[in-house]
Amino acid sequence: MSSQLATATRSPSLIDRFGRVVRSLRISVTDRCNLRCLYCMPDGTIPWFPKQRILTFEEIGRVARILSSLGVRELRLTGGEPLMRRDLPVLARMLMRIEGIEDLAVTTNGLLLDEMAGPLVEAGVRRFNVHLDSLEPDGFHLMSRRSGLDRVRSGLEELERLKATPVKINVVLLRGVNEDQIPRFVELAVRHPYQVRFIELMPLGGGEPFEIDRLVPGHEVKRRIEAIHPLLPVGRERPSAPATVFRVAGGAGDIGFINPVTEPFCAECDRIRLTADGRIRTCLFSRGETDIAALLRGGSPDERIADALATAVAGKEAGGCLDLHQFYRERLSRKMWQIGG
Ligand code: SAM
Repeated sequence: MSSQLATATRSPSLIDRFGRVVRSLRISVTDRCNLRCLYCMPDGTIPWFPKQRILTFEEIGRVARILSSLGVRELRLTGGEPLMRRDLPVLARMLMRIEGIEDLAVTTNGLLLDEMAGPLVEAGVRRFNVHLDSLEPDGFHLMSRRSGLDRVRSGLEELERLKATPVKINVVLLRGVNEDQIPRFVELAVRHPYQVRFIELMPLGGGEPFEIDRLVPGHEVKRRIEAIHPLLPVGRERPSAPATVFRVAGGAGDIGFINPVTEPFCAECDRIRLTADGRIRTCLFSRGETDIAALLRGGSPDERIADALATAVAGKEAGGCLDLHQFYRERLSRKMWQIGG
């Protein structure tokens, strides 16, 4: 065997024990957030990561470059609230220059979008997921414990002006709190070319204690929508996409359902996550993680980091979401905003 072939045979890959290939990396750039959503964060004192623990853009870029060399093609910036890192466009530009990266998206609560959408689009971001749980100012405040609906609306207008597509609106419903907003979100999808996605509440929050009774199952939301407006099936955009999508008959946009609790989609999952403090998590519900920051800061060469990433992927859970009942009994050491949603 030639030495070149021997090297190729040994080179790590991002395939897990179940044959799933990782192509997508979610990068949390901060644990800080400017909202305090009921189901996500507490409103009191929050034990933020110390600033020096948060990865620099160079460190994030290095991990992304190594992962790209192993087959990752799609990146998504999230948090915390990613736009709270004011120089985020600098990172976006750096990531878009990495060979092999085909797509860069941002998940945001939209509060800072009206000023940052332009620089982000210029840096190469086209796809934005904007989280919005109510279309009424009081409801927005009730869900997020902050004001800001007007700012989110002007952020969305800015995205329309920039012709950034697709724009996806992520809605989490809490029973008895914002489920009255369903018709308003349908109306939003009728009028605008958005994909409005209803995401089932997961037991990952650090806000109010998780109550399963607050979960509004996706199939129920769909039934309630169909009672007021016809939906035409579109399916999944690709097998690993979490949302099942429907066209809003006669409207400009779509409705999607992301049902991780009642219809887990783990079998098709192609994602891993990099936390703001440099840990790789192979599932939102992982109980373990791989400390890449220690390798980055300990002088490890790329090959050593690539091996650690491949080993982490090899151990990816069959489906963390599948043992949710066990999960309800446990309290997670990391919450959603510390993982990256
Ligand atoms: N700040 C950004 C945002 O608001 O989109 C990015 C981070 S946030 C954690 C990403 C998404 O996770 C948001 O759509 C939020 O509603 C959702 N999320 C947070 N906690 C959740 C939970 N326990 N169950 C389901 N979705 C949750």
